[in-house]
Amino acid sequence: MVLLGQSAAELKAWVEAQGQPGYRGQQLHQWIYQKGVRSLQEITVFPKQWREALAEVEIGRSQLRCRHDAQDGTVKLLLTLADGETIETVGIPSGDRLTVCVSSQVGCPMACDFCATGKGGYRRNLASHEIIDQVLTIQSEMGRRVSHVVFMGMGEPLLNLKAVLQAVTCLNRDIGIGQRHMTISTVGIPQQIQRLAQHQLQTTLAVSLHAPNQSLREQLIPSAKHYPLSQLIADCRAYVQQTGRRVTFEYTVLAEVNDRPHHAEELAHLLRGFQSHVNLIPYNPIAEAAYRRPTEQRLRQFLAQLQALGVTASIRRSRGLDRQAACGQLRQAQLSV
Ligand code: SAH
Repeated sequence: MVLLGQSAAELKAWVEAQGQPGYRGQQLHQWIYQKGVRSLQEITVFPKQWREALAEVEIGRSQLRCRHDAQDGTVKLLLTLADGETIETVGIPSGDRLTVCVSSQVGCPMACDFCATGKGGYRRNLASHEIIDQVLTIQSEMGRRVSHVVFMGMGEPLLNLKAVLQAVTCLNRDIGIGQRHMTISTVGIPQQIQRLAQHQLQTTLAVSLHAPNQSLREQLIPSAKHYPLSQLIADCRAYVQQTGRRVTFEYTVLAEVNDRPHHAEELAHLLRGFQSHVNLIPYNPIAEAAYRRPTEQRLRQFLAQLQALGVTASIRRSRGLDRQAACGQLRQAQLSV
């Protein structure tokens, strides 16, 4: 029995089942989500005797294993889960915003060729409380409220849709983060984009495209073989129609591989008439892959080409590069020591 993830009404029912008055449910809710307690023993407004009787009950918080602070204020945490597995989570401050980049799985089965997490293999899905915990832990470590959540850490969120949806619901309802401030990022899983659309969330959908044609995409993303680019784009268009929300495309820019002028032309053709936004992410070099980061000049040229062809695009700057900021890098480094 894990309490993290439960609503105020559920917590009220739970305390009442323990023979306690209903208002203790509201207190419990406040101490878990606002004060961020890690165990019920810390809830000093509860009678001591009851607290002792609850010694076995888990709130569902993970353990902080280590913290790295980058020069630009980005904080990267390695967390140990109840079964000893480890995951990364990153807090990225920017003006009034504090964005958390959460993991949705331990490792990832998608094996994208330029991704450190993909190179490390897959262990398991995260439970919803293990996702929610990442937000609460960043909040307490950084001493301020989280305003935005992006599912861009380790793992493929659409392979763990149920837990991701539960986490989105809880982060919104119990922690007060607006759905419009949350982004679910996917490499594309057949049928799952339609399934997500049915939930009519206000969250943003980000699709990791990385290539403007099927053969290059298959080279970078092995799973693309089972999901033709034409079908993926058709599903994205249907998603916009059904939800009224814009889709963002992520495009990790790999020097000479997907940043040539003809790639810009193909991409513009692929997205013609599609109200969407392309985020160019300069490749963050990882030891296990031989790709190169594009030069600043090349990156700007590619952006200018896209814009001239009518594609709405911008460059997303990687943060915290001095602390192995690429997805999965910190976990790999820690596991190998
Ligand atoms: N599985 C999901 C979410 C996790 S990855 C997805 O694929 O969208 C989040 C983003 O980081 C993806 O767009 C991914 O392609 C990108 N990424 C992974 N490794 C990277 C690297 N070394 N450099 C730049 N971007 C990377």
